[in-house]
Amino acid sequence: MNASGAGLLPTAIVGSLPKPSWLSETEKLWGDWKLSGAELVEGKQDALRSAVLEQERRGIHIVSDGEQTRQHFVTTFIEHLSGVDFERRETVRIRDRYDASVPTVVGAVSREKPVFVEDARFLRSLTDRPIKWALPGPMTMIDTLADRHYGSREKLAWEFATILNEEARELEAAGVDLIQFDEPAFNVFFDDVRDWGVATLERAAEGLRAETAVHICYGYGIAANTEWKATLGSEWRQYEESFPLLQRSSIDIVSLESQHSHVPMDLIELVRGKKVMLGAIDVATDEVETPEEVAHTLRRVLHFVDAEKLIPSTNCGMAPLPRRVALEKMSALSAGAAIVRDELR
Ligand code: ZN
Repeated sequence: MNASGAGLLPTAIVGSLPKPSWLSETEKLWGDWKLSGAELVEGKQDALRSAVLEQERRGIHIVSDGEQTRQHFVTTFIEHLSGVDFERRETVRIRDRYDASVPTVVGAVSREKPVFVEDARFLRSLTDRPIKWALPGPMTMIDTLADRHYGSREKLAWEFATILNEEARELEAAGVDLIQFDEPAFNVFFDDVRDWGVATLERAAEGLRAETAVHICYGYGIAANTEWKATLGSEWRQYEESFPLLQRSSIDIVSLESQHSHVPMDLIELVRGKKVMLGAIDVATDEVETPEEVAHTLRRVLHFVDAEKLIPSTNCGMAPLPRRVALEKMSALSAGAAIVRDELR
């Protein structure tokens, strides 16, 4: 199935949803689980069921897991690989911006067993709608760990690209329609993006029949990111670096941040021909957008992308938001897309 062929302006969430408070610490990014063992496995499945139900009843067309079964969009994947010591955590500066506690690469990395495939199969069993699964991109992976083995960001990125491709192929076989690679690092390390970033991303997506997306953003709504954004001036032109390269790449969909950002809309013309997943919901505020606000954003972007190629979405991960707010934001996204869909008829 062609995931974004779900009709005109199919909606999607980009990343996480808040987890239930009985499962995990809430309103934070790296919340600890409150259950363990078999209870944790069952709890994650119940949370996933609830996330699917809420997306469907709130009109989200391309359903995803809301990251209910993982703690972090990068480290949970890395922790499942051999060659990584996840008990040996180091605090490193990531995205050139803030310090985070991350696992350490201590030997050759490999994927001895699937990481998310069981969870994806379970998600597939819960809905008839197209499903999307997000994986970290190679560059963002190496920027979210401590490397004490390879000594080369590029070399390690190629290793991860191969591993990601194995996982992506199995996710596709499990029924995933759209595989999204999260590459927030593409908005930071421009030389690396040009030299090997896009090439390793294409390697990760090689040979897939599922649609492929790359999500590039300015980070979640945490203080370090909000403060960084305040230094970027009145026009955020970072996408200008990666978009021309992605336009020529094999990736089908480019996912970007828009609502309440200072990204000039006309930069979208740089990915002409690609599908665009546009973040029309701000995740850095508890204030819920009105449907008309969402519609306004979508009307503006339609000057730069064909309606057939637009996928209205949230900006990014909603994990730190109060649960009620995140759910209402999904409803606002759907209602805003519906307004514009009617206008296009
Ligand atoms: Zn993001």
